[in-house]
Amino acid sequence: MDTLILNKDGSPLSLVPLSVVNWQVAIRLLSLGKVKVLKDHEDWVVRSQKLEMFVPSIVICTDYVKWNKRIKYSRTNVYLRDDFTCQLQTTSRCKEHHGKVKIAELTLDHVVPRSKGGKTNWTNVITACKDCNADKGNDHTIVPKKMPHKPTYYEILAKRKKHPVRVRDLEWAYYLGDWDPSLVQVIPIKQQYHDHGEDIDDNGKERKDLKKGKRS
Ligand SMILES: [Zn+2]
Repeated sequence: MDTLILNKDGSPLSLVPLSVVNWQVAIRLLSLGKVKVLKDHEDWVVRSQKLEMFVPSIVICTDYVKWNKRIKYSRTNVYLRDDFTCQLQTTSRCKEHHGKVKIAELTLDHVVPRSKGGKTNWTNVITACKDCNADKGNDHTIVPKKMPHKPTYYEILAKRKKHPVRVRDLEWAYYLGDWDPSLVQVIPIKQQYHDHGEDIDDNGKERKDLKKGKRS
């Protein structure tokens, strides 16, 4: 994602997730007068038949946007709530590591199994490692270390801030408040990214968007 969106008061519209959009959306918002440019990506120009312009790096809303500080139920946010820690810890390898396994080994587990009518939501889903999840099977007598709850925005924000955040422009760090600067990772914009429409992330969706943008 290419452009950081700030609210009219100069703080990011949202920190979890960080309010960033791809450059096409940023340019559309700009043409609609909904945002003003605070800073451009000075080394990134996009061209169409009629127009040549810098891609905005930071934009600010022209009107104050009121929004509900609500945390979306998602896999990553459940992991964040549970500190990326297995909440079952029934298998020996997991116990040994106090539930701290590699992210790739984490799964979501329903406390009340779906087969027994368990819902997929904040209060029925926990983080579990693959081993413990398989070990548990459909045995719902195994209870998690902590019963799951619906977190607040600020709870998830505090936890999110302990992890790295990827930015396109180091100047974004200024708007991230007390986020530890050592956790701010700059993803450079590679020349090929805008010349040939190739994405530098393994984010297929963004790549598709980019190609679509080139065709139109
Ligand atoms: Zn486990």
